[in-house]
Amino acid sequence: MARTYCSHCQLPNLSCLCAHVVEQTCPVPVLIYQHPLEAKHAKSTVPLLRLALPDIQVDVGEVFTSPPLLSQGDWWLLYPDAQALDIDKPVDKQAAHLTQANIGGLIILDGTWRKTRLLLHLNPWLRQLPCLSFSQAPPGAYHIRKGPGGQALSTLESLSHVLDRLSPTFSPTPLRKLLSVRVKQFVAYTD
Ligand SMILES: [Zn+2]
Repeated sequence: MARTYCSHCQLPNLSCLCAHVVEQTCPVPVLIYQHPLEAKHAKSTVPLLRLALPDIQVDVGEVFTSPPLLSQGDWWLLYPDAQALDIDKPVDKQAAHLTQANIGGLIILDGTWRKTRLLLHLNPWLRQLPCLSFSQAPPGAYHIRKGPGGQALSTLESLSHVLDRLSPTFSPTPLRKLLSVRVKQFVAYTD
């Protein structure tokens, strides 16, 4: 019998996640540049992000043109560069306030570490952007797929943590719940 798919979440009907999705408005513009191999990966967390944060933009490819200037603040690249501003490090209040006002939008590279380094190499303009990193994110729950070193967080968890830090109105909880439902599905399939 042919598999039927949910027209909204695009998953097989048996795995439809729609009942678990709590939509939120993204507090800042978010642009995800996704490597084509990652776009085909069944365990990518970006489809979950698109369901829960419908206003994020996802571009698939290897070479991208820089996005239009924002009306307020700059685009920041979420990347653990040595010069990156650690969003979890306590800085004095005024500096923190100025920085937050300046973070007008977030750019995220989605792929393995190897592929995200390749995207940086192919798009030198990304190197001109201020970088944001984090150091105190809650432990990852996406055990079905480990990053290099076993510690990397999924794209969904990384973005949830940063948006939680940036905006008092954003809640990471619905996204984390959605991820845990997805993890349970994968575990059930492989048992
Ligand atoms: Zn669905």
